[in-house]
Amino acid sequence: MDSNFLVVAIDGGAGTGKSTTASLLSKRLNFLHVDTGSHYRSVTKHLLDNEINLKMLDSYFDQNNILLTSKVDENRSHLAINGLVYASDLLRTAKINQAVSNCASNPKVRQLLLRYQREQIYVARSENKSGLVMEGRDIGTVIYPDADLKVFLVADQKVRESRRIKDGEVDQIASRDQLDSSRSIAPLKESGGSLRIDTSLLSVEEVYVTISKSLGFS
Ligand code: C5P
Repeated sequence: MDSNFLVVAIDGGAGTGKSTTASLLSKRLNFLHVDTGSHYRSVTKHLLDNEINLKMLDSYFDQNNILLTSKVDENRSHLAINGLVYASDLLRTAKINQAVSNCASNPKVRQLLLRYQREQIYVARSENKSGLVMEGRDIGTVIYPDADLKVFLVADQKVRESRRIKDGEVDQIASRDQLDSSRSIAPLKESGGSLRIDTSLLSVEEVYVTISKSLGFS
């Protein structure tokens, strides 16, 4: 990879602090922040709104042209499906939380998003960013295995649950993690060579310092 432009992959289960960490990194280091969980949530929302269930999905994708484009808002890249960006509160409902892991285990859905996600590096460059920070479940293992830095976040189950409650979300994080870790395609797992950080007792600032030092910033 281009040594002037840095790619940081952040993976981990629900509530481990990926978005908070990626957001701070993007602001401080002028990186583009790409939250791939929101991509799977957007596709889930699109399918639910169009009353497409998982059995109908293959023929739906074969028969319909799904156009994926990016809308950049300051440091963040948002997925637009056929021109539509869903507001984040529409993507974080109990219904989406409950459906998203099944949708994300579908090979057609993953295939659709893989190319889009890999192309985010060009979006970041065209926005004159100094790097890209992408968070999800398979960024270090599948999307950017050669990232400049791969981070794997973990946190105590109770802490993760309390973070979700604090956000006002109804979310079965343990069952989502179970589905995400056990699927055959691109499961949630730590990539070799990752910097593993337990965020249970750390502030976002402390997590930021650990990561930025690993990137060579003091
Ligand atoms: O990160 P977030 O909790 O918003 O992700 C929602 C869901 O999207 C995850 O539970 C997982 O099923 C799916 N996902 C995925 N691969 C990614 C990112 C998210 O399968 N890279």
